Amino acid sequence: MPEFKFEPVTMPPEAATLRAEVRAFCAAERAAGTFTPALGSMVEANPSFSEKMGARGWLGMTWPKQYGGHERTALERYVVVEEMLAAGAPCLAHWIADRQSGPQILRHGSERAKRTIIPEIAAGRCYFAIGMSEPDTGSDLASVRTRAHKTDAGWKITGRKIWTSYAHKAHYLIALVRTSGTADQRHQGLTQFIVDLKSPGITIRPIYNLYGGHDFNEVTFDDVFVTDDMIVAGEGRGWEMVTSELAFERSGPDRFMSSYPLLVEAFNAAGKTPSDAAAADLGRLVANLATLRRMSGSIAGMLQAGLNPATEAALVKDLGTAFEQEIPEVARRILPSEPRAALPDDRYTALLHKSQLECVSYSLRGGTREILRGMIARGLGLR
Ligand SMILES: Cc1cc2nc3c(=O)[nH]c(=O)nc-3n(C[C@H](O)[C@H](O)[C@H](O)COP(=O)(O)OP(=O)(O)OC[C@H]3O[C@@H](n4cnc5c(N)ncnc54)[C@H](O)[C@@H]3O)c2cc1C
Repeated sequence: MPEFKFEPVTMPPEAATLRAEVRAFCAAERAAGTFTPALGSMVEANPSFSEKMGARGWLGMTWPKQYGGHERTALERYVVVEEMLAAGAPCLAHWIADRQSGPQILRHGSERAKRTIIPEIAAGRCYFAIGMSEPDTGSDLASVRTRAHKTDAGWKITGRKIWTSYAHKAHYLIALVRTSGTADQRHQGLTQFIVDLKSPGITIRPIYNLYGGHDFNEVTFDDVFVTDDMIVAGEGRGWEMVTSELAFERSGPDRFMSSYPLLVEAFNAAGKTPSDAAAADLGRLVANLATLRRMSGSIAGMLQAGLNPATEAALVKDLGTAFEQEIPEVARRILPSEPRAALPDDRYTALLHKSQLECVSYSLRGGTREILRGMIARGLGLR
């Protein structure tokens, strides 16, 4: 029977120096008032912070120098991502581009896409959104109905995407689109296009979330023109691309560190002499965090080696989001308070309220719990 593979990884010696540099940078930026710690990667955008990261070589870290990258290891990138999350730094603007759109374009994009887009992502100036989900199609991505028709000069896309995080500020969106066949032909005939979000025919409408924030959108395409060289990988290879991309999307520390700033505050709130119950709760969370770090780091090593650890990534996301969702529960037991959208002044209560309202989405975004468990079962040969 197939089994999970989580080979241990050893951080390279450069990682410790890098970690200290990133920590010092975040502390200085925080002290300068650039940001107050937020929950997770997908909350606060600050383009000038993204550009500062780009200038320090902390975006596109593993990418070739010829495209503006820095040819460092996936494990060094892991350290930067982890420290940004621990600091609650404002990374939303560049997050999707650096995590998954850039790597996809580098591996499978045209030379023009690589030359024009990748250096801008690495500089922290170019941001992406993901256009997979549709109004009736989230988990069952193979049944997307947005279509592209071939024209002499390229393609024209018509359809609708939903829950599109950050599309209202991003420069591009990678859209999963049907280019041939029908929805019942499932995995065939799907193609991924890089779409310039300023193209004529695109309408972006906000969708407000539980705490009233505008994080995601509905994006409508009405005969939106895209050139042939903005196809990722090739016509009909969309399904294969989406499934390989999800390993990048699902395995990183952003899938278990969204509530980390609240965990730190919960320790502060519990104080030096916590109750037995609080000590047990917090101790268990720290043990889980250490385990998740090892598993996620191991996947970073596998991605570095060019493997596609999709089953392991699904496991990290499922366990990771359960962990992120438990932190507000534990925090509420340590210092009870009811969720409220209007944020109170004290930091602990503000983070607690925000995370109570936000954490429900953690086990939906990037693939729901049931879908991940189905994938894990299939990966283990159980279904
Ligand atoms: C905060 C947030 C940000 C997001 N950002 C993006 C984004 O940037 N781009 C993007 O494309 N999408 C995004 N999404 C969408 C997200 O990927 C989908 O919501 C998710 O895939 C679920 O799809 P759905 O909402 O259509 O639910 P459905 O697929 O309708 O599922 C509803 C329920 O049924 C269950 N279910 C469905 N099928 C099965 C099955 N076969 N077996 C067992 N149970 C099943 C699901 O687990 C779920 O509980 C985002 C979502 C959230 C919450």
